[in-house]
Amino acid sequence: MAFRGKKVYGESRQNVCAFCGDTSTTNNSQGVPVCNVHKTQELLDLKCICGDWVDIKIGKYGPFFICMKCGPQNFNKILDLNGYPLKSIDSL
Ligand SMILES: [Zn+2]
Ligand SMILES: [Zn+2]
Repeated sequence: MAFRGKKVYGESRQNVCAFCGDTSTTNNSQGVPVCNVHKTQELLDLKCICGDWVDIKIGKYGPFFICMKCGPQNFNKILDLNGYPLKSIDSL
């Protein structure tokens, strides 16, 4: 098995897959940079640490989340909190 799961906290670059850290080749339907494996995956509704829903945004330095109560949230933090709820969308 290949060694994977290199997480880059606080330094989300736009040329890495937001889900696995591999080199991203494209964006998914949500505009999140992803690799070939994850290009047909999108994120289900995600919650902030406060329990409110967060909106996904794509910023200059990559994707992040906005909470109505708490403001901008770190992308990886919210994914960790929600357990990476990826949904396959290859049934187009
Ligand atoms: Zn990936
Ligand atoms: Zn919040």
